[in-house]
Amino acid sequence: MSSFKCPYCSSVMAINSSTFRSTKQYFFGSWSYASGHTDGPPEDCIHIKFYKCPHCGEVSIRIDGEGNSTKHLSSWFKPNSIAQQFPDYIPEAIRSDYEEACAIVSLSPKASATLSRRCLQAMIRDFWGITDKTLCREISALQSKVSPSQWKVLDALRQIGNIGAHPEADVNLIVDIDPSDAEKLIRVIELLMQQWYINRHEEEQLYSDVLAINSQKQEQRQP
Ligand SMILES: [Zn+2]
Repeated sequence: MSSFKCPYCSSVMAINSSTFRSTKQYFFGSWSYASGHTDGPPEDCIHIKFYKCPHCGEVSIRIDGEGNSTKHLSSWFKPNSIAQQFPDYIPEAIRSDYEEACAIVSLSPKASATLSRRCLQAMIRDFWGITDKTLCREISALQSKVSPSQWKVLDALRQIGNIGAHPEADVNLIVDIDPSDAEKLIRVIELLMQQWYINRHEEEQLYSDVLAINSQKQEQRQP
């Protein structure tokens, strides 16, 4: 990760020695270093990461488990949930699924991935007006409307979300989703909220401002 989006003010900061500090806590003691180093004693530990926002000054804290017995543990300590506040013109059902996907990302990454998939489906139906029997078909209908790279990712999100939504044909087969995997899906949902809803809203706002300026100016030109 080379940049970090502040959950308090949504500004993006570069990860460097003035915005990031981390420390690893082992059974036998602590191991601390400046950012950029990933090696350390090969034992189970918790890796505590501090991010200080240069814009609003808030500190966000994340804890990741490393090593065999703790590597599946990771959690935001401050703020408690990684959910960002999105504007009201995004339908509430979408925002609430998103917030729930964030809230359970550490506890149940598989369920979180399923919620991200549900969010994606609701956004395709609401934003693009595409509704079909399955998300698979809805995503197919979207192919000509988004960039090829985005389309591939949306289809991948659908497939990863399916892991939690449907049982495997062989019930003994376990396909796991890590919290960090589920968090990446949440990042995709955030990106789509920005690129689809927020950008459209800001574009419409700007255009209507410019049209209003023009009609005012034209009126002023009337003798
Ligand atoms: Zn901030």
